[in-house]
Amino acid sequence: MATKKNNTLKLKFESARSYAPAPESRSAATINERYELFINGKFDKPQGKKYFDSINPATEEKLSSIAEAGAADVDRAVKAARNAYDTTWKKMPGKERGKYIFRIARMMQERARELAVVETLDGGKPIRESRDFDVPTAANHFFYYAGWADKLEYAFPAKKPQSLGVAGQIVPWNFPLLMAAWKIAPALATGNTVVLKPAENTSLTALRLAEIIQEADLPPGVVNIITGAGATGAALVNHPDVNKIAFTGSTEVGKIIARSIAGTNKKATLELGGKAANIIFDDAPLDQAVEGVVNGIFFNQGHVCCAGSRLYVQESVYKEVLRKLKDRLETLIVGDPMDKNTDIGAINSKEQLNNINKYLKIGQQEGAEMYQSSVPIPAKGFYCRPTIFTNVAQSSRISQEEIFGPVLTIQTFRTEDEVIEKANNSPYGLSAGVWTDKGSKIFNLTTKLRAGVVWANTYNQFDPASPFGGYKESGYGREGGLHGLAPYLNLS
Ligand code: NAP
Ligand code: MG
Repeated sequence: MATKKNNTLKLKFESARSYAPAPESRSAATINERYELFINGKFDKPQGKKYFDSINPATEEKLSSIAEAGAADVDRAVKAARNAYDTTWKKMPGKERGKYIFRIARMMQERARELAVVETLDGGKPIRESRDFDVPTAANHFFYYAGWADKLEYAFPAKKPQSLGVAGQIVPWNFPLLMAAWKIAPALATGNTVVLKPAENTSLTALRLAEIIQEADLPPGVVNIITGAGATGAALVNHPDVNKIAFTGSTEVGKIIARSIAGTNKKATLELGGKAANIIFDDAPLDQAVEGVVNGIFFNQGHVCCAGSRLYVQESVYKEVLRKLKDRLETLIVGDPMDKNTDIGAINSKEQLNNINKYLKIGQQEGAEMYQSSVPIPAKGFYCRPTIFTNVAQSSRISQEEIFGPVLTIQTFRTEDEVIEKANNSPYGLSAGVWTDKGSKIFNLTTKLRAGVVWANTYNQFDPASPFGGYKESGYGREGGLHGLAPYLNLS
C-alpha cells in the first residue's frame, strides 16, 4: 500500500518537474556593455574612471560594466539634487509634480516586459515573479504617490507639510526596482529631490528607471542615480548637504548608518532585517496554510526581509503539516529564472549562497534535522534546494538569525500564549503570519505579536496604500501608504 502511494507520488513529482521549457525571450531587453552615472539629467562617466561587473547569477556570465561613483561623484549628485530642489522642485505646485510621477508610472507599465527581463537576468529571481509582482507593484507605487502630490494638506490636516530637501536613498539587491520605487515615489510626491544608490549586484533596473526618468522630462537633478558599492553608500550618508536618509538593507549596515548620522539634523528611516514567524493553528485549512508557508519562505529564494522563515505548528497537526510540506517541496521547480515554470530561481550572488550554506552547516551542528527537496538543480549558477529544519531549539542560531535564503525552521506549540512568546522571542519584528479558522485568534495574535505587518490566512501581500516597517532590530519608520509620506515632510 505504502509503496503504491510512494510510486504515485513519485510519478506526480516527476510530471510536475517535466514541464516543457517555457523561456521568456531575452530579446525583450538589450543590455548595454557599459552604464554610466545618472547625474543632473545626464548619463556621465565616474571621475575615478572605475567600473565593476554585474553578472547574471543564474549563469555566472557577465552582463555589463557599471560605473563606480566615488566621493566626488556623490558630491556632484548631491549638488545637482540641491540645485534642482532650490530652483525648481520645491517651488513646483503639487499638481504639476504629480503629473511627472504619473508619467513615470505609465512609462514603467509600457516598458514592463523589458524591466521584468532585466530584473530577472540581473538578480536571478523567477521571471514570473518580476513580471507579476516586482514590476507592476513598482509602477503602482508611483501611481499611488502621484495621487498624493497635490493633497498633502488633506493627508495632514491642521499641519503645514513642508519638504525636507535632498533625500539620500540606499536600497538592497532583493527587490531592486521595487525598493527604488518605494523610495523615489514618496520623496517626489512630497517635493524632495533624490540621490539613490542601488545595490552593487543589481543596478540595472535602477539605471533603466533613470532612462525612464530622463524620457519623462523630469527637471534635471530631481532624481540622480549613482551606482557603486558600500563605500558609495557611506559617502552619500555622510554628505553634509543631505537632509534625509532612507535605507533598506541589513541591520548591521543600518546600525552603522544610525551611528554616523547621530548628532546631525538628518532624518532617517531604516528598513532592516527580519525573521518572521508563520503560525499554523490546528483549525486552519491546512492545504492553504502549507501553500502560504511555501510562498512565504521559498518565494524569491527566501531573499525577502519579511520571509516567513520560522514556522510554528500546533502540535496536533504537526505530522500532517510536515508531510504536506515535504510533498510540496518535491514539486517545486528550481532552475532557470527566465523559464516561466520556475518557482525558485538563482541565489543572488556567490557570497549569499556561501552564507546560506554556512547556516545549513550550523543548523546540523546545532543538532537540528535537515530535509532538502530532491529536485535537480543546474550545475552552473548559484542555486540552493528548498530546505527545512526540524528538531530546532528556540535559542539556536538558525531560528534566531536571518539566513535570507530558502531555509525554513519548524517548531511546535500547544497554546496561544506559548506561540506568542516564541514568535516574539526574536531580535527582529518585521512581519508575521497566522493561519486559523477563528477570527478571535487572529485578533488576539495581531495585537500581541511584535511585528510591523501581520498577515492572516495569507502571506506576502503588498499594496502601496498599506504601510510597511518594523519593530526592534527590523528598523524604524514606515514606507507605503499615508504613513510613508510623513518621513519626507516637516509637519509643523
Ligand atoms: P546591505 O549589505 O545592508 O546593503 C544594503 C545597501 O546598503 C546596498 O546598496 C549596499 O551596497 C549599501 N551599503 C553597504 N554598506 C554600506 C555602508 N557602510 N553605508 C551605506 N550603505 C552601505 O544589505 P543586503 O545584504 O544588500 O540586503 C539584504 C538585507 O536587506 C537583509 O538583511 C534584508 O532583510 C534587508 N531588507 C530589508 C527590507 C525591509 O523593508 N525591511 C527589504 C529588503 C531587504 P552594496 O550592496 O553595493 O554593497
Ligand atoms: Mg547581477
